[in-house]
Amino acid sequence: MPAYAQIITHTPEQARQWHEIARSNPGRVARTLVLRPGQSTREGDNQGDIYPAVEAVKAISAIRGADNPAWVNLVNGGIADALCKNVSEMVIFIQTLPNMPQELKDQVTKEMRSPYYAPLEILCNAVRNFQDSPTKTDKKVIAALRKNWSEMMDRIWNEPENTLRPEDSHTLERVVVAQIVVRLLMIDPSFAEFNTSILYEPSDLTVQIIARHWKYSLKDPDIRTTASVLFLLFEPSQMHPRQEAYFRSNRLETKLPQIVSKILVGVSPTARSSKQQQAKALFATFAENLLRSTGRTSADQLDFLMVILDVAKKDAKRGNAELEATKVLLKATPLWNALFRLLKKSAKPGFLNDSDPEKEKEHRLRFMCGVVGLAANVLHGASFAYPSDCEALVRIWANENFFGAIEETIEIFIETPAMTMQLSRLAGLIERFVVAEGSPEIQKLYRSQFPRWRTLGTLIRHDVKKQQINGRPSWPLPNQVAPRDSTFWDHAAWQCFGSLQLQCMDKTLCGKRGCENVGSIACTCKVVTYCSEDCKTKDAKDHQLACGLLGLLEDTVGKKLSNSAAKSGGQTENSQASTTEDGPATAGGAAPEFNELD
Ligand SMILES: [Zn+2]
Ligand SMILES: [Zn+2]
Repeated sequence: MPAYAQIITHTPEQARQWHEIARSNPGRVARTLVLRPGQSTREGDNQGDIYPAVEAVKAISAIRGADNPAWVNLVNGGIADALCKNVSEMVIFIQTLPNMPQELKDQVTKEMRSPYYAPLEILCNAVRNFQDSPTKTDKKVIAALRKNWSEMMDRIWNEPENTLRPEDSHTLERVVVAQIVVRLLMIDPSFAEFNTSILYEPSDLTVQIIARHWKYSLKDPDIRTTASVLFLLFEPSQMHPRQEAYFRSNRLETKLPQIVSKILVGVSPTARSSKQQQAKALFATFAENLLRSTGRTSADQLDFLMVILDVAKKDAKRGNAELEATKVLLKATPLWNALFRLLKKSAKPGFLNDSDPEKEKEHRLRFMCGVVGLAANVLHGASFAYPSDCEALVRIWANENFFGAIEETIEIFIETPAMTMQLSRLAGLIERFVVAEGSPEIQKLYRSQFPRWRTLGTLIRHDVKKQQINGRPSWPLPNQVAPRDSTFWDHAAWQCFGSLQLQCMDKTLCGKRGCENVGSIACTCKVVTYCSEDCKTKDAKDHQLACGLLGLLEDTVGKKLSNSAAKSGGQTENSQASTTEDGPATAGGAAPEFNELD
C-alpha cells in the first residue's frame, strides 16, 4: 500500500488560502489530498498543503442543513473519493518535523489522533448531514464509501494506533465508524444493500472494528454509540424500513451467528485467543461497560447482551458449538457481579439519570426486569444444556448477592408482566440445583442467603392483591404451560420461593438471616424461632411483611388451592422438560409444595 504523508503544520496564510480554494476550486483540493511524496499538483501544491486543505474541507462539511453549495461543489470535484483514499493510505510524518525536542515529539505522538481520523470525521459529517431521501450529492458520497469501504476498514483494523488509548482526545476516534454506520442504517440510502451486503459479509471488518472500539470505550458516549450500532445489526425492525426489507428478503438473520463471531474477534485479547477466551473477554467487556455507563445506556447494554445470547443459543441448537458463549457465561463472575450491583442500585431513583423522571423510572424498570429475566433464562437454558455447570452458576449468584439485589427491587418490578413467571422458574430451578442435587457446600452457602421475608412477603401480597382483583388464579390445562402473564404465576411464585426458602433454612436455628444460634422464641406464625429478643426485634421489620400474611393467605385461598398450584407447577414442568426448552417456562424442577406453612 503506497503511503503518503500529511505534515501537520501550516501557516495562517496557508489556512486562509485553502479556505478560499475549497470554495473556488474543489477539483484542486481533491487532487491535493491524494498527493504522494515528491508529487505536486499543476498549481504547485505539495504534501505540505494536505493538512490545511483537509482543515478547510472539514469546516465546510460541518455546516448543517440541506443547502450547502460549497460541499456540493467539493463532492462534484471528487472530494469523497479523495477522502476515502486518504483514510486508507495517509500517514503523518510527525517524527520528521525539524527542531522538535524528543520529549515533545513523544507527547504529541501519544495525543495525536490517528492519521485517518480527520478524513473520516469529514465523511462522518457528510453522512450525518444526509437527507432522509438522499440527494444526488449524498448518493455520490455513498458511492465513494461503497467503493473504498473495505480498504478503509482494513486499515483501521490493522492500525488501531491511538484509537484505543484512554485519553479524552481519543474518545471521538472510537465513535466515528459507528456513527457513519448507524446513520447509514437509519436513512434510506437508495441502495440498502450498502450496509447490509457489506456489514454481514464474512470478509468485512466493520463489526470487528466497532466491537473493539466498544471494548476500549471508557465513557457513556462511546459506549452508547458503539453498542447501539452493534445492537442494531440484530434488530432490523429498528433500521430504516428499506434496510429492514433488504435484511428480511436476503434472510440475513441466518448470518447473525457470524456477526457474533465478528464481535468476539473484535473484543479478543489477542489474534490467537481461543473461542473461550474470546467469550470471556466479551462478558468482561459487558461488565466493565455496564459499570461505566450511565443513563439508559446501562439498560441498552443489557438488551445488547440478550440478543447475543439469543443468537448463540439458537446457533448451538442448530448443532454448532462455535459460539459456546452461554457456557462461559455460567462462570462469568465479573458480569454477574456488575449486573447485581446495578440491580441493587436501581432500586433508588436517580440511578439512571435522565432529566425526565418518568423515563428514568421506565429505564430502571427495564433494567431490573432484564437482569432477573436474563438470570432465569440463562439458568433455564443451562439446566438442559449444561446441568453439571449449574451449581457453579448458582454459587456465583449467592456470592455476588443476587438475592439481596432482588430483595431491594422486587417491590418495584413485581407488577411487570411475566416477572412472577421468571421468579417461579428461578426459585424452582435453584431449588433443584441447591436442595435436590447440590453439594453440602452449596447448601451451606444457601443457608446464609435465607430467609428473605421481604421478598416472600412481597410475593404473597402481590398474589393476594391480584386475587382480590381477578378472583382465583387460573390454572393451565393438564400438560400445558401457563402463559407468561397468567395469574397462575403470581400464585406459583411465592410457593416456589417459599419452598426454596424453607428448604434452605435450618428451622432449628434463629430465624434472623446470618445468625447461627439455636432458636427458642417462637414467632406467632410458627414458621420461625429466634435465639433472642434482640434478633427478633432486629428481624421484625422484614419478617412482619410476611408473618401475618402467611396465615391470611391460608384463610383466603385455602390449602387446597395452594396444593393444586404446586402440583400444577410440578406437573407441567415435567412434561415441558421432555418436549421443548422454549416457550413460556414452568414453575421449575421441584414441585413447589408449601406444606410447612399449614
Ligand atoms: Zn439470632
Ligand atoms: Zn412470624
